Amino acid sequence: MRIDILSAVPRMLDGFLQESILGRARSKGLAEVHVHDLRDWSTDKHRRIDDYSFGGGAGMVMSVEPIHRAITELQGQRSYEEVIYLSPDGDLFDQPMANRLSGGGDLILLCGHYKGVDERVREHLITKEISIGNFVLTGGELPAAIISDAVIRLIPGVLGDETSALSDSFQDGLVSPPVYTRPAEYLGWKVPEVLLSGHEARIAAWRLEQAQARTRERRPGLLEDDDPTMAER
Ligand code: SAM
Repeated sequence: MRIDILSAVPRMLDGFLQESILGRARSKGLAEVHVHDLRDWSTDKHRRIDDYSFGGGAGMVMSVEPIHRAITELQGQRSYEEVIYLSPDGDLFDQPMANRLSGGGDLILLCGHYKGVDERVREHLITKEISIGNFVLTGGELPAAIISDAVIRLIPGVLGDETSALSDSFQDGLVSPPVYTRPAEYLGWKVPEVLLSGHEARIAAWRLEQAQARTRERRPGLLEDDDPTMAER
């Protein structure tokens, strides 16, 4: 899979791409993430990619032309499953959406800045809009990094233990049960006896019970029929 990220501040993503799971996926040849500086497509002598807002008001707006030129150039090189704009008012990102994107083709992620992008970008160039939550960040770079991580870690072979992504929260409509490691007792705080029993069936039953109880307590919505995780299950 290939993800192309279009950004006004591409250096924000440098460390993240080298160090995280994305670095491992890239070195294994399973996924590529390319970050592009939108200013490379500016025709302005000062490499500007924003302008004032028609009608007035605070904040600059990202211009349509450099974004159009960038997306068209990338689309001329390969075909993309989706051209995604990160936006606070987009569809809320969740595990079923990560699963779908991970199983699909290549993606373009467009990061906004300032007041956002000229609306004509959204009308004519974007095929999907995603929000990572009902709050406003300064730019789309952190959402792009979050989405890239959540999508790429699902590609078979990226994680060391291939089953671990499938046993994470939300994959089976439940949150994860508690996990423990050595020592079995610390300052009198003990690991549940069943996990030390070596009895696989009892351990599996305990984990399921814990996951169900936690889901009821923390994310009761996941147990409702209209939750998308439930629908995928
Ligand atoms: N004026 C916009 C609004 O009120 O919806 C907010 C613009 S925000 C300061 C700049 C950029 O950050 C957005 O264009 C978007 O790309 C990104 N962004 C901010 N919050 C986001 C979120 N919750 N999810 C996805 N992208 C976000």
